[in-house]
Amino acid sequence: MARWYMLLLRCFGCAMIEGTLHYFLHRLLHHKRIYKYIHKIHHEFQAPFGIETEYVHPLEILIFGTGYIIGVMLLFDHIIFLWAWVTFRLIGAIDTHSGYDIPLNPLNLIPFYAGSWHHDFHHMNFTGNYASTFTWWDRIFGTDSV
Ligand SMILES: [Zn+2]
Ligand SMILES: [Zn+2]
Repeated sequence: MARWYMLLLRCFGCAMIEGTLHYFLHRLLHHKRIYKYIHKIHHEFQAPFGIETEYVHPLEILIFGTGYIIGVMLLFDHIIFLWAWVTFRLIGAIDTHSGYDIPLNPLNLIPFYAGSWHHDFHHMNFTGNYASTFTWWDRIFGTDSV
């Protein structure tokens, strides 16, 4: 049986891997030569809403999907872990696109958690705040715009 703290640890590891790949791939998708072909679809809405997290070009699913899968391939040892990771990631993605910064949101207790305020800025301005889960890559590279 999977232990709860190992689930948390592995989910955190997956979030770090996914977050790192997401940051750099997201910046790449905003490059002026390729933006209009793939990522522009996701930016149709300047004010995002929960399910809009899945409103993307099929290639974007494959591109960002690498971040989801690599962590699973490296850290997976039990089916419960896979369920926990997919659940955490989907809840996080829907939360960041929800448009609501809920005061008692337990996700806001996670250090460096991006949240909806972070991603709202990205959708409003089409630049900056490229992170998915954690804000540290935006801070390191000076793309944190809020
Ligand atoms: Zn974007
Ligand atoms: Zn988005």
